[in-house]
Parts: sequence; C-alpha cells; structure tokens
Amino acid sequence: MRIVLFGPPGAGKGTQARLLHQRRGLVPISTGALIREEIAAGTPDGRASEEYIRDGRLVPGPLVRRIAEHAIAEHGYDNFILDGYPRTVEQAEWLDAFLQQHQASLNAVISLEVPTDVIVERLSRRRVHKLTGENYHLDFKPPPPDVDPSLIVQRPDDRPEVIRQRLEVYYRRTLPVEAYYADRDYFFRISGLGDVEDVYARIDRVLKQVEPAGKTA
Ligand code: AMP
Repeated sequence: MRIVLFGPPGAGKGTQARLLHQRRGLVPISTGALIREEIAAGTPDGRASEEYIRDGRLVPGPLVRRIAEHAIAEHGYDNFILDGYPRTVEQAEWLDAFLQQHQASLNAVISLEVPTDVIVERLSRRRVHKLTGENYHLDFKPPPPDVDPSLIVQRPDDRPEVIRQRLEVYYRRTLPVEAYYADRDYFFRISGLGDVEDVYARIDRVLKQVEPAGKTA
C-alpha cells in the first residue's frame, strides 16, 4: 500500500501515521521529521533547510525531493505512508512520475479536514518528545508523569507567529494539491476532528475500501 496523508499542519497526520505503523506495519515517511534529523546531524542539507523550517516556509523542492526519493526507494517503493509530502503541485507531479518509473502508483490520498481555529489551538498546545518524536497535547494528551520533563519541548515552528506563516503557506501552496488529486478515485476526504481513535477508524475504513482483498498492508 502507498498512502499519502494530506492536510494542514496540526491535522494529525503524524499521529495517524504512527498508528498505521503500529497496527498495519506501514512505514511513515515524514519529510518534516527527516529534515529535522538532517538539521540535528548538521549535514549540508540540514544547514540549507534550517532557516526555512524556522520561518515556517517550504524547504526548496529539489532538496525535499532528494530526501523523499531516498526514503521511498529505501522502502522498496511500497508499504509507506507519506506525511507532509507532497506539499506543492510540482511535488505531486514529481511523485506520480517517480512512482510510475518504478511501476508503482498511489493506493490512497487521504485528506484530513480540520478547521483553522482548531489547528491553531492544536499546534500552540503541542509538545514533542525530543528523542522519540512522540506528540503530546498539553490539555488532551499530556506527557505521562514518568517522562523526564526536560525532554518535552515545543517545536520552534509551533510558536504563534510561525504557525501563522505555516498556515499562509498551506493555503497558498499546499491546498492546490487537493485539487490536483480531487478527481482520482483513490482520493478521500475525511474529518480530522474527534479523538485519535475516531480519526483512525475513518482512515481504516478508507484503507479497507482500497486494499486488495485478503491483505492487511
Ligand atoms: P512538518 O513536520 O510536516 O510540519 O514539516 C515541518 C517543516 O518542514 C515545514 O514547515 C517545511 O518547512 C518543511 N517541509 C516538510 N515537508 C516539506 C515539503 N514536502 N516541502 C517543503 N518543505 C517541507
């Protein structure tokens, strides 16, 4: 199965990708997480991306494409969930062509719909575990008491001024990707509201519709 989880920042793509990994063995490929790893490791790609992420802008296409290409190839062009890619129509076009070159195509593009006020609230209350990448929400999913509080941090791009910039980029550059996929029979729009299990159940229903009979992943 080759899945794209689409939606604004804070829609829950990362959380759902983790659940899909645990329950269906699909491998999450988050370009944002991969770029953050490059930054942490101080690689040339990391250094070149740093200011874009910090300011809530899109990292230049060729760099992200290289990262996506490498990750998809590493997983044998199958059994993955893209989280945060594609974020522009050019990236979506490239992805189609790239998969086609490898005799592959997407099984589902699932768009998680969440209204803007909910996104802002979720992102500003989001905290992440520095080492595991696990996401928390200060009100609805607080970090467990046995987790060292010094490891729970706010992403620099979850600060209010950067959230505004990321949303602006989302509506201007990323939302057109939805129109790109809208007429495909594997495009699904679902609500990203409710608790994590509600959203997972909606995704699971979609995957049951698209997966070949008798297979789970
Ligand atoms: P995320 O973790 O998905 O919220 O991504 C964090 C940041 O990484 C974004 O705000 C962008 O700066 C960068 N990024 C992640 N994926 C992409 C992409 N597909 N194209 C361009 N920039 C990206």
